[in-house]
Amino acid sequence: MLEWEPVIGLEIHVQLKTRTKMFCRCENVWGEEENTRTCPICLAHPGTLPVANRTAIEWAIKLGLALGCEIAPRALFHRKHYFYPDLPKGYQISQYDVPLASGGRFVLPTAEGDREIGIVRAHLEEDAAKTIHVGGSAGRIAGAEYSLVDFNRGGTPLVEVVSEPDVRSPDEARRFLQLLRRTVVELEISDAEMEKGSLRCDANVSLREVGESGFRTKTELKNMNSFKFVADGITAELERQRDIYEGGGEVVQETLHYDPSTGSVAPLRSKEYADDYRYFPEPDLVPVEPPAGMVEAARAEIGELPGARIRRLEAEVGFDLAEGLVSGGRDRLFEEVPGDRRAVANVLMNQFAALSIDPAQVNAAELGKLIEARETLPRSTFAEALMATGDPDFRADSYLVEVAISDFDELDPVLDRVIAANEAQVTSFKAGKEGVLGYLVGQVMRETQGKANPKVVNERLREKLGA
Ligand SMILES: [Zn+2]
Repeated sequence: MLEWEPVIGLEIHVQLKTRTKMFCRCENVWGEEENTRTCPICLAHPGTLPVANRTAIEWAIKLGLALGCEIAPRALFHRKHYFYPDLPKGYQISQYDVPLASGGRFVLPTAEGDREIGIVRAHLEEDAAKTIHVGGSAGRIAGAEYSLVDFNRGGTPLVEVVSEPDVRSPDEARRFLQLLRRTVVELEISDAEMEKGSLRCDANVSLREVGESGFRTKTELKNMNSFKFVADGITAELERQRDIYEGGGEVVQETLHYDPSTGSVAPLRSKEYADDYRYFPEPDLVPVEPPAGMVEAARAEIGELPGARIRRLEAEVGFDLAEGLVSGGRDRLFEEVPGDRRAVANVLMNQFAALSIDPAQVNAAELGKLIEARETLPRSTFAEALMATGDPDFRADSYLVEVAISDFDELDPVLDRVIAANEAQVTSFKAGKEGVLGYLVGQVMRETQGKANPKVVNERLREKLGA
């Protein structure tokens, strides 16, 4: 049995959230009515000229620096030619042999140590328009009755990040992408939402035998629009290639589409992606020559990177929780919430994460009080209270008093019933068995369907039992 080593490189498209598009002044927005954010420039009317968006250049520099890249003193825009309805000019303005940023490395912390993923380049380009294929299977062009084009997206700024083939597993690809996403979000240059297409990922995938030097034929996997699909798609492709090699065949270089509904990969029509783009320098744009001041200003805006924060938090809560908190964007809240570190981290990563509350809205001190009280609360009450923390006016004490039955008039009859029905436990409690009290509190909680305030029940029971 041969041992196979995956060789994976990622190409990640980050859509910048600049106010306007890359080469015209159309509004750069998502979700507006189709073909309402267009102008003669992004629709490629004859005689129009592009003007580069300064903010997009600044943000691309910022991302390049965060990825450890060198910033080119003089970068060029090129025309990349292909013929497709999503491209009114017949070419896309992109960067070719002199990209804005190149030669970086991205540190991916793991439980076993740091992994370094080389960054080949990060370049600026304009996005194509969005095509919608109607009537085909899974919205694909194959078998579609007709296609529609929305030019609102055409000409919006993208940074394409190309990694070295340094990624060694589907899970590593997913974690790299998640941490890169976090980086981009914190730099405040993109929403980077995969479901909206503002973060997109393609993967170049090949296999080789463990110990083999050099690379074998790779395939390109496109259109994986969630973190899970990235890992699943690469897994499916690695299995397909392994079966081919073990069956004595050869992998053919091709572009593949991952279909999450079947968990399989299938070739894209080769017509959709031509190889010969006939790049040549864009004659309508001057070279990008960022002044030193612009690069230094961008560098000054980069804070502590997510990978470094994972390492810092790891010491407090272990690697998995630290990575989860940072990747999920809940680490800043974590650092503000007082209380037992692991308990806070666990709540934030489990119950709290499931509620999709904006961490920025949460009063950390009040959340800390709630987490501290959680042992004394029924599970359902704690879950409901957590949900209420999304309101900035949430106050743990008053909330718990309001929702819980603390009123003796209401509690006493229940307590008396429980005491009467559990003579043996009451006797052993009076004989000094402290632990039995928890059982009795539990009985009261059950009778009140979790609505009693356990802290009050606890105290009142002690009183009644003369302890
Ligand atoms: Zn426009």
